[in-house]
Parts: sequence; structure tokens; C-alpha cells
Amino acid sequence: MVSGSEIEMFLEREPKFDDIMCSLQATSKQPKGIIKETKKVVALARKFNDEVVRPYSLELDKTVQEDPEFLAWDFVKKANEWGFYTLWIPKIFGGKGYCMSSMSFFVEEIASACLGMANLIGVHYLGVATLSATWNARLINKLSRETVEGERKGNPCLISLAITEPGAGTDVEEVDLVDKGDVTCYAEKVDGGYVVNGRKVFISNGHLSTWHILIAYSDLKNPSENTVVLAVKNGTKGFSFGRKERKMGQKGCPASELIFEDCFIPEENVCIDPDQYGTLSRSAKETAMQVIDYVVSGTRAGVGAFGTGVARGAFEEALKFALETEVKGKLLINHEWAQTMLAEMYKNVAVSRLAYAETNYANGMYGFYKTLQWKPTYYYTRCLPRFIADKVISPWLDKPRATSLMRKMSLDGQTDSEIHRTSGWASLAKFVGTDAGVKNCQMALEIMGQAGLRHDRRAEKCLRDSKLLQIYEGTNQLNRLNLFKCLIGRSYPQVAVFQE
Ligand SMILES: Cc1cc2nc3c(=O)[nH]c(=O)nc-3n(C[C@H](O)[C@H](O)[C@H](O)COP(=O)(O)OP(=O)(O)OC[C@H]3O[C@@H](n4cnc5c(N)ncnc54)[C@H](O)[C@@H]3O)c2cc1C
Repeated sequence: MVSGSEIEMFLEREPKFDDIMCSLQATSKQPKGIIKETKKVVALARKFNDEVVRPYSLELDKTVQEDPEFLAWDFVKKANEWGFYTLWIPKIFGGKGYCMSSMSFFVEEIASACLGMANLIGVHYLGVATLSATWNARLINKLSRETVEGERKGNPCLISLAITEPGAGTDVEEVDLVDKGDVTCYAEKVDGGYVVNGRKVFISNGHLSTWHILIAYSDLKNPSENTVVLAVKNGTKGFSFGRKERKMGQKGCPASELIFEDCFIPEENVCIDPDQYGTLSRSAKETAMQVIDYVVSGTRAGVGAFGTGVARGAFEEALKFALETEVKGKLLINHEWAQTMLAEMYKNVAVSRLAYAETNYANGMYGFYKTLQWKPTYYYTRCLPRFIADKVISPWLDKPRATSLMRKMSLDGQTDSEIHRTSGWASLAKFVGTDAGVKNCQMALEIMGQAGLRHDRRAEKCLRDSKLLQIYEGTNQLNRLNLFKCLIGRSYPQVAVFQE
């Protein structure tokens, strides 16, 4: 019927089989243990929602509304006690080493109860992911172990990511755009490190974090070729916090301004810089883009899961309302118009979940989680005694050889089509999930009428919280363009993307 070479040829046609069937490809290759771990973290999240999130979520929103300087340390300490800031740090770096893909199912659960609190936990992993995507083994090990120590001592050690600048948001998320943006965060190379001047804004958890992964540029006229990633610790001379934004939603999670004034960052805190790009096979610009793509391929799936969670939260509020409210002599749930709306909302949640789950498969097969979810590594790290991780592997990670090996495997080892597949899917999951979040919140308010506007009904808070998701982790417009670039435009030579 079809020969082997025909099969290959037909499967290479658009849409390419490998691009659209990540889950099918993954079924036999991914370790079974990830199912057990995912079940465990979903159950854990549900328990945490019952005991911590739901009883406090409306109160936290109101507290920050009344006192914008308030910081949710009480919540962060609780999440720290429950072990959430190390759950997804690999065991070789001292963490609990849960499979990365389970995190999005976890955050969907928390987001279904409170999106602000989901971000208070989840955005720590945006910092961890950015640090990890530089594949600087020594620094990943150092900061991860500080986080683990912070958990042990009850003194949270969170990590934020600082990339957005007052004049450049979308532009810094996409290396093809960064040269057109108004970037001003300058890292001047000096003896022994860098001196940084500039400001970063809208940094989630900024005021609550101990470390900040800072993206700066060593040449402001040509930033795409000169991206520098630095680790900055609180208390470093020349680094300070500015204002906290007063924003419409996710109020519990602060969006902070970070200020750098002649701030010296020693070489030992340089995660990656143009000198180090030189040791890799791609150009400096391509490597900077690859690092960012590694990060957002994971974190955009996570934000898609936030969207799925808030879409589910809104659905659950509307369902509860329809089950207990009478309209024209019968329960709202027995009006067909309400049933079709609830079915539509359920569909929005289900489709969004499929989108982020497929992205997880893509990352497990071709991206960020590939090494960790490769069966031999997966089972080896699960059997690895803690003392070997701490006493044998940890000192080895401090050696330059560990970093160069990790970079060779992960940066040089990833093909362009794998980058496009994971990045394209992540963008899709991000805008599908977050658009569904806003849509379901609006539908919940439609179903609930005036009752939905009341603060204690949660639906209006869900709507305020969900709107922010369409903006961060790359606006949904940017993500649509990125999907077009990665999975549509790449096959047509006449197509130009990000040229306007
Ligand atoms: C609650 C919140 C938390 C955040 N947390 C963090 C964080 O932890 N760390 C961090 O670094 N940043 C964070 N951000 C910043 C966030 O990543 C940016 O807001 C986002 O990238 C958009 O940038 P901008 O707001 O400057 O919008 P702009 O870039 O000014 O965009 C304005 C509009 O123009 C559109 N647009 C811009 N350029 C293009 C283009 N080339 N093509 C098509 N359309 C375009 C955008 O889609 C948007 O509609 C956060 C933002 C929010 C709201």
C-alpha cells in the first residue's frame, strides 16, 4: 500500500506528523512513573486548596486592595512549608525532583481556586527555568540548594525573572524584535564581572524573592547579539526595589520594580554571556533565542494551565450558582440555555487542558524535560540515594566540565525543528488557555447576573485575575505570531515574520 519511503515522505508534509502527534509519540517513550507523580501533586494541590487557598483567597485580594504595600509572606511561608518551591527542582540539585510535566496539572488546580496564589508559587519556577535554560550547572546547583535550605529553615528563598523594561515588554520576549525595542538595562563588562545600570518593571514576586535572574545587554545598540543573564541576590550593592504596581488582578502576587545603579555583579554570578555563547555551535543571537525558547516552552504551557484553572474555577462557580438558584419557577440548571453555556464552558476547560498537556509531551520528547524524562535518567534519579546526589554529584556540578557537557547536550543537541515544535506548541497552549480563562469568566458572570458581581461570589475576582494572563509570558498577540512563525510560516520561503 505505502512503502517505507512513502510513509516518511507523507509524514513530512504539512502538518508534519511529529508536530501534531507529540502525545502519540510519547506514549511508549515516557516513563510510567510520571502518572503516579502527577496524581500525587494533583491530590496535594486539592488538599492545599481546601486548607489554605480557598479560606484565604478573597481576604488576600481585599487586603492588597486596601494596602498595596502588603506582601503575602504568610502565604509564601505556608507554600514553603508544604515544599512547593522545591518540588520540581531536580534531585541532583537537592530538590524533590518531581517530573516537570506534573507542575502544570498542579497549577491548574491551584489556579481553579485562586490565580494570584497560583502565581505566588508558579512564577518562582519562571526564575528557576530561566536559570536552568542557561545550563550553568554550578549556578543552578548553588541557587537550588539555597532554596532547599530556605525550605528546611522555614525561610523561603524564591527566585524571580527580570526581563521586562519600562520601554520594552514584547520586544524582549522575542530576540527577533529586541533590536527594535527601547532596551536600556546595560551590563558593562568590567574586570571580574559586569556593572549593571537600568530598571526592570512588573517583576512577579520581585519583593518576595531572594535571587533575581536578570536579563541585561552588554551593547544596547545590538542587544540581540549581546544578551547577558545574571544572578542578582538581595543586598547586592547598587540593587534596590522600587514601587509595587497597583494592578486589577492577581493582587496577592506583587509586580515589582527592580532598580540597578552601578550594580557590580561578579563573574561567579554570570549565568551566561556572549563570551560563553562562543563555545556553542549556534550564533550568539540564535543561542540567546534558544535559551528564551527553552524557558517559554515550559512556562507558557504553565500559563496555559493557569488559564485552564481559572476557566475551571469560573465554570465551577457558575455551576454551583445554577444548581442552587431558581429562575422563573425552576432551577437555573434545568434551563436549556444554561446547560448549553455550561457545556461550552466545560469544553473550553477540556480543550485548554489538552493543549497544555500536548505541549508537555512536546517538551518531554524534544525540549526542556527531555533529559529528565528520558527513561534511563528518570529511573536513575529516582533510585539515586540522597547522599550520593549531595556528596558526589553536587561537587561535580561545580566544575566547568559539568556546564559544558550540559550545554553540549541541551543547546547543541536540540535541532531547529525541535525548537520550533516546542515553542510553537507552548504559544498555542498559552493563548488557548488564557483566552478560555477570560471567556469562561465572562460566561460565568452572564449566568450569574448581578450576583456574579459580588466579591464574595468569586466570579468577578476570577475575571480580574484572568485578564492579566493574556498579557504576561508574551501577550497573546505575540504568541499567535510565534505560533505562525514556528509551525506555519517556516514552510513558505516568501513569508516574513516579525518584520513590521
Ligand atoms: C501581572 C504581570 C506579571 C508580570 N510578570 C513578569 C515577570 O515576572 N517578569 C518579567 O520580566 N515580566 C513580567 N511581566 C511583563 C510582561 O511579560 C509584559 O507585560 C509583556 O511581555 C507585554 O509587554 P508590555 O506590557 O510592555 O506590552 P507592549 O510590548 O508595550 O505591547 C503593547 C501591545 O502591543 C502589542 N505588540 C507589541 N509589539 C508587537 C509586535 N511586534 N507585533 C504585534 N503586536 C505587538 C502587544 O501584543 C500589546 O497588545 C508581567 C506582566 C504582568 C501584567
